[in-house]
Amino acid sequence: MKPAMRPMDYVGRALSCDGVVLADIAAKVGTPCYVYSAATILANYHAYDDALQGVPHTVCYAMKANGNLAILRLLAAAGAGFDIVSGGELYRVLKAGGDPAKVVFSGVGKTSEEIDAALAAGIFAFNCESEPELALVDALAHRRGIKARVALRVNPDVAADTHAHIATGSLGHKFGVDIGQAEAVYERARLYENLLLEGVSCHIGSQQFDFEPMMKAADRVLELIACLRAKGFDIRHADLGGGLGVTYRPDEPAPPIAEFTAALREKVAGYDLHLFLEPGRSIVGNAGVLITRVLYRKKSGDKEFVVVDAAMNDLIRPALYDAHHEILPLRATSADCGLRADVVGPVCESGDFLAQDRQMPEVFPGDLLAVCTTGAYGFAQASNYNARPRPVEVLIENGSWRVIRKRETFDDLIRGE
Ligand SMILES: *Cc1c(COP(=O)(O)O)cnc(C)c1O
Repeated sequence: MKPAMRPMDYVGRALSCDGVVLADIAAKVGTPCYVYSAATILANYHAYDDALQGVPHTVCYAMKANGNLAILRLLAAAGAGFDIVSGGELYRVLKAGGDPAKVVFSGVGKTSEEIDAALAAGIFAFNCESEPELALVDALAHRRGIKARVALRVNPDVAADTHAHIATGSLGHKFGVDIGQAEAVYERARLYENLLLEGVSCHIGSQQFDFEPMMKAADRVLELIACLRAKGFDIRHADLGGGLGVTYRPDEPAPPIAEFTAALREKVAGYDLHLFLEPGRSIVGNAGVLITRVLYRKKSGDKEFVVVDAAMNDLIRPALYDAHHEILPLRATSADCGLRADVVGPVCESGDFLAQDRQMPEVFPGDLLAVCTTGAYGFAQASNYNARPRPVEVLIENGSWRVIRKRETFDDLIRGE
């Protein structure tokens, strides 16, 4: 087993990333703040892209994981496509200079405005999740006098071994069309003159380490493609979604991007298909940390609390998904003194915690902590709950760093009211 990739590590006693001491950033921009490593994001992207050399493919970064323009620009320049799930994400991709011809549009509830904007932009394909959506895309493409490429998103009915909120590939989930119905849906869709029925797509869930379900889903999609081709459909691309996990605990294995991609590569060999993947978390997850400052220590009953200045509005994953994030001091202390505590934020909810019952080094008010592996679904799910401005975001690139999104101000909080 390879050691977990540690983009953030101690140099001497200072937690650092790509040669930059994280405490120096916090001193300049304040806390809480998100810090990302451009080098790690690009390394993760290339792990997919390099492993697929020789196979026609497009790696479409699922930007809902982290949609900051600087990160999109970085990936667009590296050649990435994008998986979008809303008109707002399309707007961001275009603002970042992303190539619309490498964009796929997923999601169960696309509005006509969103579909029309995507048609106007000339995206590569719609991953359609229902028959009424196929009809709407056809009608809007007809109005523009163009043809829209679509892939039906099928639900392959395989259970992904992940948290219930992020499993999407079993019957009874809202996503896609039951794979058993797919052939009939493609047959009925032959009527739509403004659709190019050239793809099949699926995505079975997030934070997966087990190859089995993902490979089973791929097999089912490829079987379907063979059947559709036998019926005369000109299927040219397969979009196998995203979902590969990242390492949240030090004892977990590293994300098996290269192994996963190599296995897929073998599966699609001989199919004459353009392969699309939609990784999100595994591109940015381990590339980010949330830096927070300790405000207070307190006890309640026999419990210890470390109160910090980051809260569930900044990082909701612990509350929403029971997620575990390692918490490291920015300045390493001697290992022999420690405590067991809940690390909690200022928000007025008992669900506001970053860690519970966590064994950690002794910390004091004023100390800085890094909440690790928060590059994905961190800032992206941040809110202004409790009228808290969202944190500043920083990107480390080529040994220096810069702010890629300012900390929100109180004026930002009331804009539009
Ligand atoms: C969320 C999502 C992804 C990305 O999932 P990750 O686990 O972040 O890789 C890909 N495709 C679709 C359709 C999604 O909804």
